[in-house]
Amino acid sequence: MAISWDRLANQARRAASAAGKVAGEVVDTSKVKLAEVRLNSEIRDAYERLGALTYDASRLGRSNEQLREMVMSEIDGLLRERELLKAQGAAINGQILCPKCGSANNMDVNFCNECGAPLRAAGKEPEEKSAVVSAEAEQENMEAEAE
Ligand SMILES: [Zn+2]
Repeated sequence: MAISWDRLANQARRAASAAGKVAGEVVDTSKVKLAEVRLNSEIRDAYERLGALTYDASRLGRSNEQLREMVMSEIDGLLRERELLKAQGAAINGQILCPKCGSANNMDVNFCNECGAPLRAAGKEPEEKSAVVSAEAEQENMEAEAE
């Protein structure tokens, strides 16, 4: 079966609009769940198209590297969207997702209950760092003015 550019473009547009809705104001858990179900079906659909393209390439000798690359980029975007959505759903429930295993943990804990991984990047103090950077910049300005 051959896949047309039109069909791909349509599907990409639908995926983009679904993702747009997701990124908007999803405020309650049921909406997050619904959006996740939609995303999952978009992801399945994209994998199916990728499979069909791979079959075409392998069995029928069609060169469709670019089409496959396009569908894979679409899948990358959808998977990222799903990660965001999961984090959003967890945040609504006052939870934080483990960056390592994806388990939901209470906001007030620092380590994952499931795998023990730190839930927030350790020793990350952006405010202090930017203070250092601006102090350095100031120092450089003063040196420049002195010359
Ligand atoms: Zn974990």
